[in-house]
Amino acid sequence: METVRVIVRSRPLNKSEKERGNYSIVQFDRKINQVAITDIKTNIAKTFAYDAVFDDTFTQTQLYDESAYPLVECTLQGYNTTIFAYGQTGCGKTYTMLGVPHDSELRGIIPNSFAHIFGCISEASEQKVFSVRCSYIEIYNEEVRDLLNYDPNTKLELREDKNKGIFVHHLKEHPVKNIADIGAAMEGGNQHRIVKQTNMNEKSSRSHAIFTIYVETSELQNGKNLLRAGKLNLVDLAGSERQKKTGAEGDRLKEAIKINLSLSALGNVINALVEGSHHVPYRDSKLTLLLQDSLGGNTKTLMIAVISPADYNYDESLSTLRYASRAK
Ligand code: ADP
Ligand code: MG
Repeated sequence: METVRVIVRSRPLNKSEKERGNYSIVQFDRKINQVAITDIKTNIAKTFAYDAVFDDTFTQTQLYDESAYPLVECTLQGYNTTIFAYGQTGCGKTYTMLGVPHDSELRGIIPNSFAHIFGCISEASEQKVFSVRCSYIEIYNEEVRDLLNYDPNTKLELREDKNKGIFVHHLKEHPVKNIADIGAAMEGGNQHRIVKQTNMNEKSSRSHAIFTIYVETSELQNGKNLLRAGKLNLVDLAGSERQKKTGAEGDRLKEAIKINLSLSALGNVINALVEGSHHVPYRDSKLTLLLQDSLGGNTKTLMIAVISPADYNYDESLSTLRYASRAK
């Protein structure tokens, strides 16, 4: 499996779009993994190629099996892995990562990975001892907060340690024994994002959320104890939309600049990894610094770019397709 994989997923047109007479301007070609997007003003189509493409007919389970499954297997084998959802607000980042957690058909990658990991653990031989922990943070305005131990007034700092590398100081990793434990942890953390969403003008679309699952295995082999430690970072990124269009000012503009900064830093890091550059600019944002040990080197990354198929989203969808194709 390659180090970085980039895929594109489209949501369906929704009811109100259909009622308004909006139509789809994207075509997916699964044979050559291409997406074509048509500019309705000129009728000219642009095409982009990826590692895989998923039109709006793909279910959550199909997407999981074809894209996330192999990464989670790597995590269980001791690799550090990261899955991002990137795209404009309203295109399906949260649907893709979280979905409907208690519905086995509609649940997204995060709850599917819980079922996958604990399913493997329950089937593993008794020689293997597993320890699973999780953490959940939010990065908003380049400030890091712990969603599992939430205090709006406590910003966590990034520190560097010779052995540990970059880490979040005072971030608690919660031990979880089963699917119910980890599901409850995630839902507790989500509450803190949702509260803000209703109170503060969709703040969650302007922050990055990182749910991390740490899996450690110890196994007796030929009289020796073999230790493996991997982690899986599941990232629901801030919306990639340009804020200029919405006439952002003051605090909103400050937020927008920080979001653009970290999304472009992420794009630059992934681009540098794909190109095999010697210098990978991790230090340009908290997001990339924090994920440094899970991006590049001996790790696996999946970038899922989500788009809307609708005609009126042409500019934003084009910009998402470009971002994702640069990461390829
Ligand atoms: P984002 O997190 O990118 O802002 P959401 O995940 O909240 O977007 O999706 C916006 C809306 O579109 C939600 O109502 C969601 O249920 C719906 N949606 C997104 N992707 C899909 C999909 N692939 N199939 C069906 N509905 C979807
Ligand atoms: Mg969202």
